[in-house]
Amino acid sequence: MVDLQGQYTKIKDAVNNSIEQVLNTSAYINGPLVHEFQADLEKYLGVKHVIPCANGTDALQIAMMGLGLEQGDEVITADFTFAATVEVIALLKLTPVLVDVDPATFNIDLEALKKAITPKTKAIVPVHLFGQVANMEAILEIAQEHNLFVIEDNAQAIGATYTFKDGRKQKAGTLGNVGTTSFFPSKNLGCYGDGGAIFTNDDELAHTIRGIVNHGMYTRYYHDVVGVNSRLDSIQAGVLKAKLPNLNTYCTSRRDAARFYNKAFANNTNIVTPTTQSNNTTNCGQLCDSCDCHVFHQYTLQIKNGKRDALHKHLLENNIPNAIYYPVPLHAQKAYKDDRYQEADFKVTNQLIKEVISLPMHTELDQEQLAFITNTILSFIK
Ligand SMILES: *Cc1c(COP(=O)(O)O)cnc(C)c1O
Repeated sequence: MVDLQGQYTKIKDAVNNSIEQVLNTSAYINGPLVHEFQADLEKYLGVKHVIPCANGTDALQIAMMGLGLEQGDEVITADFTFAATVEVIALLKLTPVLVDVDPATFNIDLEALKKAITPKTKAIVPVHLFGQVANMEAILEIAQEHNLFVIEDNAQAIGATYTFKDGRKQKAGTLGNVGTTSFFPSKNLGCYGDGGAIFTNDDELAHTIRGIVNHGMYTRYYHDVVGVNSRLDSIQAGVLKAKLPNLNTYCTSRRDAARFYNKAFANNTNIVTPTTQSNNTTNCGQLCDSCDCHVFHQYTLQIKNGKRDALHKHLLENNIPNAIYYPVPLHAQKAYKDDRYQEADFKVTNQLIKEVISLPMHTELDQEQLAFITNTILSFIK
């Protein structure tokens, strides 16, 4: 699905230099490269505060702790996402409220979201699924109307840009009260181990979070709040500092591959290609260069003739990596079952799990590989 070796070969000197710098100074924890990467990422995202941490799941948990959410508070998120999003809500003894997604973008459905709001609702967690920014303008309006926090799970969409109706542009992850990301190796900006970060423009929240990631300390050995230990180590920060200048190129490579796929499948009625319309005002299915609301963490098709599972097998037999993200909706997972959920409320996710299939998507795909993948699919799904 990804080619991390091919990508590393091209940036080997920069990455090796960064790692050597750490080895030569033994500043393994909280070294200068952590601070340099943090500053570089703040500049890239146009956000006041980046707080690095150990992984994307911690980032979500710490964001929720920082906002002071308490037991019983309801937190609304999408039914169709990776489990980490709902896991931390449950872990903090908050009440997860899962809602259906939009059939075109796979992101949180606005009507379902509005319907799920109760007096106990305290926060919304939009997930920018597969690299496409959710409809943030509408989500922020709903949040403001009901006085709710917005925590963006931006693990899959770092580098994407959201365009407001008035033309204003802002990076994904910096639109809500707080945003989180993961630097897991296969993510769009991945390190060579685990890593994550929290973003916010709120000075007070940033201060609170900086203490939480460090055992609740604001003054050394004085623990004002219950915190956690969650750090991005210096070697990973060095890898990320070396990779960040390439992130825009990486986004372009992914979008070029997506354009190739879109074109190849355009005339096949059994194959639905991804819709890109993050602000729901335009369907920029052409992936025009002026709009980068989708950075294709995954390229995900919907197979409409009931042959998704057969295609999955066929591709594996032809040595083409592919994956079903996600095979089980969260509301149907044993850990997150809730008597309040009705199957009728999850029509879209229940359908998507039967139809979606994600194709190889990374920065090193060449025309020959793309042609082989698309031809293999088109000769199987007529
Ligand atoms: C990867 C991912 C996470 C978790 O990130 P880790 O670094 O693996 O903890 C959270 N949310 C989403 C949507 C993800 O894709």
